[in-house]
Order: sequence, then C-alpha cells, then structure tokens
Amino acid sequence: MKKLEERIVQDGRVLSDTVLKVDSFLTHQVDVALMKEIGHVFAEHFKYSGITKVVTIEASGIAPAVYVAEALGVPMVFAKKSKNITMTEEILTAEVYSFTKQVTSQISIVEAFLSKDDRLLIVDDFLANGQAAKGLLEIIGQAGASVEAIAIVIEKSFQGGRQLLEEAGQTVVSLARIASLENGTVVFAPADV
Ligand code: 5GP
Repeated sequence: MKKLEERIVQDGRVLSDTVLKVDSFLTHQVDVALMKEIGHVFAEHFKYSGITKVVTIEASGIAPAVYVAEALGVPMVFAKKSKNITMTEEILTAEVYSFTKQVTSQISIVEAFLSKDDRLLIVDDFLANGQAAKGLLEIIGQAGASVEAIAIVIEKSFQGGRQLLEEAGQTVVSLARIASLENGTVVFAPADV
C-alpha cells in the first residue's frame, strides 16, 4: 500500500535496527482516515473469503482491526492481555511473549465469542517474530474456528514471523513489508497488497 509506505517514511522513526516507532499515526495517536483506507484495502482483498469475524490483540491491533471489520460488515473481537473481574464466562487463553515489552503475558478471549463455524481474519499492527499471531492461532484452535489469513499493517520481513506462520500453514498478507531498518533507513520489500 503505497500511501502507507509513504507515511512510514514521513512519520516513522527508526529506533534501532529492529524497532520502528509509528506512534503518531498507528500505535498511539491514530490517523483515522488512514485506518479507514487500510480497512477498505483489506476488505477488498478478502471480500469473497466468507469471513465472519476479525480477531486482533489489544491494544495497537484494535484500530486497524475495527476498520477492517467495519468494511467487511462483521464483528471484531480482541484478545485481552489481562483478565478482569467482568470476565466471568469460560475463557480461552494462550501465552504470548511480547517483542516490544519483553515480557510473557497471558492473552484471553471469552469462549462464547468464537465458534467452530467462524472463519476468521487475524489483523495486527506489526508482525515481528510472530508470537502475537501464534498466540491468537492457539486460542482460535481451542475454539475450533478456521483462519482465512493473517492481515498485517507493517511486517518486518527481516524477522522470523512470516516464516513461522507460513510453516504453520497460514497465509500472511501485509500492506507494508520492511526488508531492513539498518543505518536508520527504512528499506521496503514488495508488499502483498
Ligand atoms: P510479534 O509477536 O510478531 O513478535 O510482534 C508483534 C507485536 O509486537 C505487535 O503487535 C506490536 O505491538 C509489537 N511490535 C513488534 N515490532 C514492533 C515495532 O518495530 N514497532 C512497534 N511499535 N511495535 C512492534
């Protein structure tokens, strides 16, 4: 997605050889108009896939996921990173190691929000080592639902996430693919969409 790549170049900040900061439009402040376009691009790509629900993980996946779900006309459900006292129902859980926080946390989704009849589209802001998506796949597997694809806003292709997910039989569709962040410069690989 050309517009997203341009925005990454304009407003992204390379913090190290492995970390890109995009908090002015994606992970903290959110450019709603850009999210809406991202929603439409993914919805166009998956419009004949029979998707019944979009699944993401809090917090930064929620903004793009909402707009993808809105454009597809389906609900969005996000995995929570901490259990709260209102979650009295049966919950499905998985352990996820966070690349940016460098801690392992338990993520959970209330069982009733996923069913074996669901065909799901996973959406996330970043793909790094694939641990967040792997945790979601584990939860979805417990529910017996199927996954159409994993839709990523920014993939760092120099990390192992795509390979991990493809080896697990999944399809990854990324709007921007970053080949390198070395020397403070963003180098793109050809995107999927
Ligand atoms: P993974 O689970 O694929 O290793 O990492 C994905 C998660 O880590 C994303 O949901 C995102 O929140 C965070 N993340 C990974 N790499 C980056 C990065 O370079 N910048 C930012 N802002 N978040 C990242």
